[in-house]
Amino acid sequence: MADGKEPKQKKSQATMAKKEKEKEEFQLQICNSMTQQKEVFTPKVPGKVGMYVCGVTAYDFSHLGHARAAVNFDVLYRYLQHLGYEVTYVRNFTDVDDKIIRRANESGENPLTLSNRFCQEYIVDMNDLQCLVPTHQPRVSDHMEQIKDMITQIINKDCAYVVDGDVFFAVEMFPNYGKLSGQKVENHRAGERVAIDSRKRNPADFALWKAAKPGEPSWDSPWGPGRPGWHIECSAMSAHYLSFKFDIHGGGIDLIFPHHENEIAQSCAACQESNVSYWMHNGHVTNNNEKMSKSLGNFFTIRQITERYHPLPLRYFLINAHYRSPLNYSVLRLEHASSELFYIYQTLSDCEDVLSSFQGSIKDGTKQNVKPARITAEAQGCIRELHNEFHTKMSDDLNTSHILTGAFREALKFANNTLKKLKTAKQQQLSLVQSLFEVEREVKEVLKILGLLPPCTYAEVLQQLKDKALKRAELVEVHLLNVIKERAEARKNKDFTKTDQIRTELEAKGIALMDIGTETIWRPCLPTQYKQEAQQPDEQEQAPRLSKEEQKVLPKVGLTSSPELPF
Ligand SMILES: [Zn+2]
Repeated sequence: MADGKEPKQKKSQATMAKKEKEKEEFQLQICNSMTQQKEVFTPKVPGKVGMYVCGVTAYDFSHLGHARAAVNFDVLYRYLQHLGYEVTYVRNFTDVDDKIIRRANESGENPLTLSNRFCQEYIVDMNDLQCLVPTHQPRVSDHMEQIKDMITQIINKDCAYVVDGDVFFAVEMFPNYGKLSGQKVENHRAGERVAIDSRKRNPADFALWKAAKPGEPSWDSPWGPGRPGWHIECSAMSAHYLSFKFDIHGGGIDLIFPHHENEIAQSCAACQESNVSYWMHNGHVTNNNEKMSKSLGNFFTIRQITERYHPLPLRYFLINAHYRSPLNYSVLRLEHASSELFYIYQTLSDCEDVLSSFQGSIKDGTKQNVKPARITAEAQGCIRELHNEFHTKMSDDLNTSHILTGAFREALKFANNTLKKLKTAKQQQLSLVQSLFEVEREVKEVLKILGLLPPCTYAEVLQQLKDKALKRAELVEVHLLNVIKERAEARKNKDFTKTDQIRTELEAKGIALMDIGTETIWRPCLPTQYKQEAQQPDEQEQAPRLSKEEQKVLPKVGLTSSPELPF
C-alpha cells in the first residue's frame, strides 16, 4: 500500500457498489412521451447513457423557456451521473436558420457572426445558471457533411424528392408518421397559415434542404447550393454523436410537433434500426397563465431576470415545479426562492464556521479505518429521511416539485438547533459536532445534485444575494447602514414609534432588520406585499389557458397543472 493506489481503488469499488445499491433501491422511472407512460429507465448499454437535447436557435438572448429546458435536463444529467452512469450529453446550437438570416439582414451583420455571438451569450447564461457543459455542443454550420449524407440516404430510400434545388421529405412514405404527437397526416394543414407550396406532393411534406435565395448563406450540395431545413440537423447530429440508437431525447413540449415527429421520420428513413428509448418533454413557462412567447411579447430574457435576481434563485424557481407541469412566471416565487436560498446558505455558512473550530475532532466515516464519534439518533433520522425522500422523488420522473421542503427543511432545522446547542454547551460535545458534520454533508449532497451549491464561498454568495436585494429595494448599502444607525439612536432614546416605522418601511422593500443585543444586522426578506400575496391560493396550481391549436397538437402528457401528475 506504499504507493497509495490500493486504497484509492478500494474506495472507488466501494463507491461503485454504493451507487449500484442506490440505483436498485431507487429505480429511476421516466415519463416517456412516446408511450405516455412512466417507464423504468433501462439504458441500451448498461452503465452508459446517451442523451440528446434540442438547444436554441441563436439569434437573440435566450428567454425563460430556454432556461427551463436547459436547467431541467441539467438536473437529469447530474442525477444520472450521481447514480453512477457515464453520460454522453449532446445539446445542439441552431446557427443556420430563417430567423437568424432575417435578423442578420436587418442589421447588416453576417448571419454566422450574429449566431456565434448569441451562442456565446447562451453559454454565459448557462454558466450563470450553473448548467454543466454538455459533452458535445454541435453547431449546424460545422456538420454540413453529416447533414448532406443523411439527406442522400433518405433520397436513396425513396423517402425524399428533389424539386428545383429543394429537397422534401415525403411523409406518406413513413407510415408511422404521427406516432409521437398523435397527429395524422391527413389532419395536417401545412397550408392553413401560409400558402401551400404546390411543388409538394403532400402539404405535410417538409424541407430537408432549401435552395439558396439571394442574400442567404449557402453550402454546395448534390442538389445545388442551399442550406438545411431545421429538423434534419438534430437527426444528423444525434446520429453522429450517439449513433442511431440512443437512450434519451429531450426538449420543450412545443418541439413534439412538428420537430420531433419529423426527426423520427428522417432518422427512421435513413436507418431502419433508429431508435430513441425515451422521449422527454418539459412544460411551457407561462406568464399570467399564457404561454411565454416572442410573438405575444410577454416573455423575459434570462438576462432581464438576472439583472434583478441572482441566477441561483432563478435556477431554484425553475426546478421547484415538476418539469412536465406548466410553470407560471411569478415574482412572488422568485422572491421566495431568493429568501429560501439565503436561509439555506446562511445555515451552511454558520455550520462551516462552527465545524472549522472543531476540525480536529471531526472524522470522515466514509474513509477507511476511520471511526467517527457516534452521531445522535435524531441526526441519523434526519439523514435517512432526507436521503430517502430526495432519491424517491428524483427517481419518480424527476419530481423536483417542492424538493427543498419536507425532509430537507427538517435537516436545516436540525442544523440550526444543533448550532444553538453547541454555542451554549459547557463541554465539547463530540457526538453533536459529528452529527452536525454528517447532516451538513447530506444537505450539501442534495444541493450539489440540484446544481444549487454556490461556486464561491458562502460569505460571497450571501453578499451577492444581499446586493440583488438592495438593487430591488433601490438602496445602497451605505445609506441602509446610515438608516440602521439612525434607528439605533432612536432605540437608545426609546423612540419606538420611529424604530417600528423604519423597520416597516424597510420590510416593505424586502430588507429585514434583526436586533441582536445592541447591534442590528440586516438580511433580505420577502417584501411585505408578497407576504400578503403568499397567503392567497397558489397561483401556480391554476391551469394555463392553451390555444385550440396547442390542445390539438400537444398530447396529454405534460399538460396537467396539478402537482399530482396522472402517471
Ligand atoms: Zn432538435
